[in-house]
Amino acid sequence: MAYQAEYIWLDGYEPTPMLRSKTKILADDVTDPPIWGFDGSSTEQATGDKSDCVLRPVFTCPDPIRGGQNILVMCEVLLASNMRPHPSNTRAACARVEKKFAADEMLFGLEQEYTMLRPDGTPLGFPPGGGQPRPQGPYYCGVGTGRIMGRDIVEEHTQACIDAGLMISGTNPEVMPGQWEFQVGPLGPTAVGDQLNVARWLLHRIAEDYDVVISLDAKPEKGDWNGAGCHTNFSNKAMRGDYKAIINACEAIGKNYMDLVLNYGDGIQDRLTGKHETAPWDKFSYGVSDRGASVRIPWQVERDGKGYAEDRRPNANCDPYIVAKMITEIVCGSTAKGARKR
Ligand code: ADP
Ligand code: MN
Ligand code: MN
Ligand code: MN
Repeated sequence: MAYQAEYIWLDGYEPTPMLRSKTKILADDVTDPPIWGFDGSSTEQATGDKSDCVLRPVFTCPDPIRGGQNILVMCEVLLASNMRPHPSNTRAACARVEKKFAADEMLFGLEQEYTMLRPDGTPLGFPPGGGQPRPQGPYYCGVGTGRIMGRDIVEEHTQACIDAGLMISGTNPEVMPGQWEFQVGPLGPTAVGDQLNVARWLLHRIAEDYDVVISLDAKPEKGDWNGAGCHTNFSNKAMRGDYKAIINACEAIGKNYMDLVLNYGDGIQDRLTGKHETAPWDKFSYGVSDRGASVRIPWQVERDGKGYAEDRRPNANCDPYIVAKMITEIVCGSTAKGARKR
């Protein structure tokens, strides 16, 4: 007998890569999915004359859709010529930084917001022929017809993530109708990206069966409608024990705010306007409980005098490997310097 392994990877599309996947049939006695390949000339990752790219499995979990012995296999892309990371492979650098700062035990929790669209591109909460629904207000964490759209998909996706063994930590309906959120974490810098990518893939895949498009666009509707972010909660060992370390982390992020914001996903200026629970993209601020700040310290964290902070700026369409890598470098790099007294 045999089973199916769905190999998932990120393509070379810019500015925002897309998920791709294909199926490999494995014999029953194969326990580890092997290295595989694909046609990089069809994914913006190679030219036709040197088209082969390599898929190296990095994270495997049960396939909650096919069930049984079947698995999902998150992969990184390598160059066939030398088995080095492909230029589109942002995971490799993240893994390197995680290793460098392993002693800091960095943890991330990502809040993935997304918007459900009809195949014609209108959000599920908007009238099909065009026009606007009732203004924002009743939708966030709402219940009932007219306030909630697409809950079937959310229920199915959440259970699928649990069945796959992913560290999903919650879900909620968002401020704009047809917009939702799920959270993944807390996990290490590379693992949180692996699991978020599998969770994103499951969402796209499940929504296929409902003829719904999942958009990670940062500002799907112009005007008085919230955008979609990927709030990034982070902590290292020091922050989980000491409030001073949280302040130091916020200060370090502030020193690098522009470098970070330019790597937080396509269309960030459209979303970080200073309205709709955002801080302006070109100004840095942090504060306790402040949803209008770039970085928020949750009130429980201030009360406990330890915990984590939330960078509210990353877009829904961000690359979690890039975000986790940069925050790890900045937060752990600065505390390392501060701690090294001579
Ligand atoms: P919000 O109040 O901003 O909506 P959420 O509850 O949606 O926050 O998400 C918070 C995320 O932070 C969750 O994914 C959670 O697992 C994560 N988290 C909790 N504690 C930590 C920590 N110490 N370090 C990093 N992430 C954490
Ligand atoms: Mn949230
Ligand atoms: Mn949210
Ligand atoms: Mn948040």
